Amino acid sequence: MLIFNKKADLIDHLQSLKSSSIGFVPTMGALHQGHLTLMNKAMSENDITVVSIFVNPTQFNNAEDLAKYPRTLDRDVEKIEHLSSKIVIYAPEVNDVYGDNTLSEHFDFDGIEDQMEGKFRKGHFDGVGTVLKRFFEIVKPTNAYFGEKDFQQLAIVKKLVSKYNIPVNIIGCPIHREHNGLAMSSRNERLTEENKEEATLISRTLYKVRQDFGTKSLQELVAEVSEVFANNPHFTLEYFEIANAETLLTATEIVEGEKYQAFIAVFINNVRLIDTISLN
Ligand code: AMP
Repeated sequence: MLIFNKKADLIDHLQSLKSSSIGFVPTMGALHQGHLTLMNKAMSENDITVVSIFVNPTQFNNAEDLAKYPRTLDRDVEKIEHLSSKIVIYAPEVNDVYGDNTLSEHFDFDGIEDQMEGKFRKGHFDGVGTVLKRFFEIVKPTNAYFGEKDFQQLAIVKKLVSKYNIPVNIIGCPIHREHNGLAMSSRNERLTEENKEEATLISRTLYKVRQDFGTKSLQELVAEVSEVFANNPHFTLEYFEIANAETLLTATEIVEGEKYQAFIAVFINNVRLIDTISLN
């Protein structure tokens, strides 16, 4: 099992392999089955798979969230080794990625960055764009794999590679859920068993919205979701949006032939969870 902490060593190693395709799965660690599904897909479609494990400070707008983000490198390495000892891990320290300047570049992602996650986590997508642009330069992947759990991030990454002509295929992968519907997330590690049960309200609400989509106005659907969470003392709803799945702009009415996606961010017990679902 090869684990690189320094980008220079990783670059040397990848160059020495002269492989015909590199699959890349960027993660922030605290790995769960959702991450492993991405790795399996990458392995089935590429000669080599590189997984990065890096809690990227520039994409956090909240110091407490960054400090409390679960860091479980030893366990993560075990999980990856169990999957395949051929996966190459890149687990750098902050200064290997940023040097002395832990700052984001500023990006124009054609407005997608101002919606939802971008609205509530100022600078978040500048941080995501900065770290991924660097990782793509280091790993030079053929294919890079991202979860639809972070649907907006997936759209941002597609913009990033098209704007900067980065030669990589961006591949979106379905959301992996617990049996009870809760979307898997590293942040779930911070929930009590009781919270995890309560948090199924998030996916249950999204399934209900999907069921009602087309039979009620979008405004009614949004109002109903607000009410569900307002009536539940365990949750604080940050946003619920129904957006055009291409532009990610808030939808006000359903237009024939367009695709729609619902997005939600809620706090439970001070832990911020997001989820999303395709509506048609
Ligand atoms: P993270 O470590 O949270 O930054 O996630 C790393 C990658 O795994 C991102 O592309 C996420 O969208 C993806 N991911 C996280 N959770 C899930 C999930 N439940 N199902 C599928 N992909 C996921």
